Formats: sequence, structure tokens, C-alpha cells
Amino acid sequence: MKRVGKEQTIAKLRSRYVKITDVKILGIETSCDETAAAVVEDGRRLLSNVVQSQIDIHSAFGGVVPEVAARSHLEVILPVVDEAVKGVGGWNEIDAIAVATMPGLVGSLLIGSLTARTLALIKNKPLYPVHHVEAHVYANFIIDGKPCSPLPNDLPSVRDFCLSSQEKSLSPRRNCVQPQEDILATNESDQNLVSTPSGMTDKEDSLNLFLNPLHENASMETPERQSLRPQDMEMSHRADRLTYYGMRKNGLGNPPQFPMLALIVSGGHSQIVLFHDHGDYQMIGQTADDAVGEAFDKVAKILGLPYPGGPSIARAAKTGDPLAYTFPKAKMSNRYDFSFSGLKTAVLRTVQSEVGHDHTFPSTGLPELLDESQRHNFAASFQRTAVETLVDKIVAAYAEFQPKSVVIAGGVAANQELRRELAERLPIPITYPTPELCTDNAAMIASLGYFMAQKVPPGDPLNTEVNPSISMTLAAWNLS
Ligand code: ADP
Ligand code: MG
Repeated sequence: MKRVGKEQTIAKLRSRYVKITDVKILGIETSCDETAAAVVEDGRRLLSNVVQSQIDIHSAFGGVVPEVAARSHLEVILPVVDEAVKGVGGWNEIDAIAVATMPGLVGSLLIGSLTARTLALIKNKPLYPVHHVEAHVYANFIIDGKPCSPLPNDLPSVRDFCLSSQEKSLSPRRNCVQPQEDILATNESDQNLVSTPSGMTDKEDSLNLFLNPLHENASMETPERQSLRPQDMEMSHRADRLTYYGMRKNGLGNPPQFPMLALIVSGGHSQIVLFHDHGDYQMIGQTADDAVGEAFDKVAKILGLPYPGGPSIARAAKTGDPLAYTFPKAKMSNRYDFSFSGLKTAVLRTVQSEVGHDHTFPSTGLPELLDESQRHNFAASFQRTAVETLVDKIVAAYAEFQPKSVVIAGGVAANQELRRELAERLPIPITYPTPELCTDNAAMIASLGYFMAQKVPPGDPLNTEVNPSISMTLAAWNLS
């Protein structure tokens, strides 16, 4: 009986393709340290966009702590999704769900993926698993949007959800998720679901395993699960720090044209990809070691600048001399590949010699030996070298492949120097996302989901794996 219920649900979802216009896709993103949900219409109009950043939690550690990231996603994912859906008038407006299932931190990916899979089943929506790095490029397809109302101040926290449901003496099985009824309430079409022997439907069964860390008798109760009790959440809930972005008309004009050359530069990735069409692309170059965003973050640490390093180096560089120090640029056998690990080490060695120490001196002791102007000069010189490295390669790739458009994407695409130098050295205008869509967000996930929905069938919500390390080209769309 249980099997039949599942097969019917899968068959229903598989047979559904989204309609071509006026399609509203809910995107869900949790691959690293941002919990995000957004609704995008027709791949280009941003209707609602909610991002809960964990930056202030991880900055105490100087980088992302995977276990903490996963727990923090779990705390806020439902309020974040709820807010994004409410922003467009509720679940009836949503045609499909797209979720980042690769690559990223495995625990973080699991929270978004399980949420999306569960919601796809409950709400009977097609599900599109997407590649996070590919999705960064799609922030450039979002060219329009309605202003959104600000996040209500009285948005209840996860802790409030748990406490209020306990006060109402709800059944322990639902005590954590009950106040989220508007997210989790089943459609009328779900009523044909077959009950399992436990008295729960299939959907409730999987929901219970995933969404019920407070369930007193949960069969999967572990020490970690127990630590997520309401009294602990009082210390750690962060729903009150949700950030809600309204999209302004950004004046970017038309979406990028194919063939499109994309420079994807983030904390985890640096690559140049040539897109012939949606889902049809080839990797032209990639980093052999550190991503450029990672180099910004590590050099910031050497200089004693706060995490995340990209924005703080960019700020410090404004008053520094970009020619004060000369750092080498790596020569690669593939002219479009990068290497940023050597640049980071070159900065470290130069800082050590500048303050009168050799390579044995620990990098943690360096910041206090630098004065303000040295710090700013190092930041500016490093930024110049990193930006020149990226731009040299894009200019060469442009000359060889003659694309109709050049887009930049990922957190480092927010860098003003990178934008300025690309604009100066390329004969066509570059396209880049608004700052809030450069770093991780769910609007880009929803936009990519829309273009995928035109060409490939939805995934199976009962069988969607996460993959922490697969590259874009290996995860290419199944267009057969
Ligand atoms: P990931 O998806 O790999 O987590 P994001 O796309 O969220 O990365 O981008 C985060 C990265 O972008 C960080 O390494 C951060 O230092 C970098 N970054 C953000 N803003 C800037 C900036 N203005 N200049 C350079 N790097 C930046
Ligand atoms: Mg990213």
C-alpha cells in the first residue's frame, strides 16, 4: 500500500512540465552559509527574495564551520521559505521548486534539499535540483522585479514556533512544525495518500524524520538532536536577523545573449565557462588550487582584516597604493586556468619580510606588526594582482571565442575594481548582478530552475541526492 502511494505521487510529478510563461518558481539555497528562498517569475522577474546570512556567526571563527552552518540552516529554513512564499501570495502561486543540491557543504545542502523534496511532495510541485555554481550565472538573467514589502518585525523565531506549539499541547510528533501549517498543510490532491502502519501518511513519515528534531520519542534521536531543544534555541535562534531584499528595477536591460562568456568567481570556485545556450556549455578554464574569493579571505586573515575578506580587502584597498608591492602571476599550461595559492603565499612572504621576519614567523603574529598604511598597501596590491589575473584571461578568452555577452557572477563579482577593469578592457559592456545577487541567494536558483524546466523533466523528490563536490560540467543537464 505504501509503495503504491509513492509511485502514484512520482508518476504525477514526472508527468508535469511547467507552463512556459507566467511561471513562478520557488528557489531554495543552503549550500554554504546563507539560508535563502526566493520566487522568480519566468526566470527574470524577482518577486520575493529572503536571505538569512550566517556571516556574523562564522566570523568569530574566521571561516565557515560546517556543523554550525547546517544547524543554523535547520533553524531558519522554514521561516525563510514561508516568508518568500507569502511575498507572492501563497503556495497557489508557485508552479515549481528549484533547489541547490550540489556542490557545497554536505550538511548544509541536505537541509535545503530535504526541505525542497518534502515541500515538492506535500504541495505537489515539480522539483528541479540545480547546480549552485551554474546558478550563480543566472543571477544575470534577473533583470526586473517588483519592490517587496519589508520583513515584518514580529516574524516569529523557530524557538517561538516550538514554544507556542508546546503551550497549545499539540501532539509531540508535530510540536516543532505545527505553527508552520501554512507551509506544510497538504493540498486537497494529497488526500489520496495511503496511510502507513504508524498512522502517518508517507509524506508525514518523511517529514517527521526531517523536521521534528524535538520529537520526544523520535527514533533517530541522537545527542545532536537532543541539543536542539527549545532552551538551546533561545541561545541560538536567528530568525530575527533575516534580511529581506526588495528588487529594484535595475536597468540592466535585456538578458545576456548566447554565446555568453561567464567568469564565475566565488569563495569556492573560479572558472571561465562558455555558454552556447541554456544547458549547453564548456569549461574554458578553472583554478588549479584556491578560488579567488578564498584567496581574498586568506590574505585578509594575514593582514588582520575581518571576515569575509573580499569586502574588507576592497574597503582597505581604497586608501592603499596598488603599486606598492609587486606579486607574481601564475603561468598555467592552459592559458585560461588560474592559480591563486602562490599569490597568497607571495603576500605572506612579503609581509613577513616587510616586518623583519623570515618564513618561520607565524602568520597569526603578523597583523599587529603592520601599520595601517602598510595594511592598506598590501590590500590594494593584492587586489590589483588578483583582478588583473582574472581580467587578462577574460580579455584573451573574449578575443578567441567572440561571445555576444560577457557576464560575471559569484561573490567576487561584487568587486568594484574587477567591474571597472573589465569594463575598461572589453569592447562590449559586461553584465553583472546587483550586489545582493552576487553572493549566495535563492533567486539565482529559481531563475536556473525556470530555464531547466523548458528542457528537462523534473527530478524525483523521493530520490534526489546531494553532491558536495561535483563540477558543473559533470553535472550537465540530461538533454536526451
Ligand atoms: P560561495 O558560493 O563559494 O560560498 P559566494 O558566492 O557567497 O561564495 O561569495 C563569497 C565570496 O565572495 C567570499 O570569498 C568573499 O570574500 C567574496 N567577496 C564578497 N564581496 C567581495 C568583494 N567586494 N571583493 C572581492 N571578493 C568579495
Ligand atoms: Mg556561491
